[in-house]
Amino acid sequence: MAKGRIKRLQAASSWQGQPFKADALEVCALCEREIPHSLKDAHHLTPKSRGGVVTVFLHRACHKQVHALFTETELARHYATPEALRAHPEVARFIQWVQDKPIDFNPPTRRSRSKGQL
Ligand SMILES: [Zn+2]
Ligand SMILES: [Zn+2]
Repeated sequence: MAKGRIKRLQAASSWQGQPFKADALEVCALCEREIPHSLKDAHHLTPKSRGGVVTVFLHRACHKQVHALFTETELARHYATPEALRAHPEVARFIQWVQDKPIDFNPPTRRSRSKGQL
């Protein structure tokens, strides 16, 4: 009995020694940095209103930025993948800008065009 118990403990401690995060955070599909739980938003790649069901996780700040830049029609037609979003010059600029901010950074939305919808 005791022997089995020691074995288990050893197994547990070597498991903890692995480079492994117990509470791994989701990674933002836009800026590819970890997202604190309090700032995690699900974004519909194709807007829900256009029948989209696939979501990715984004920082609240990144999510706001996407909706500040694009209408739902634009998202549905041209930006329904993280790759397409990140290829847009304004988004690329935002990603560069946010890169050296803390992962829990939640700036006021920077709008380059007025859209009035999130
Ligand atoms: Zn992000
Ligand atoms: Zn969204």
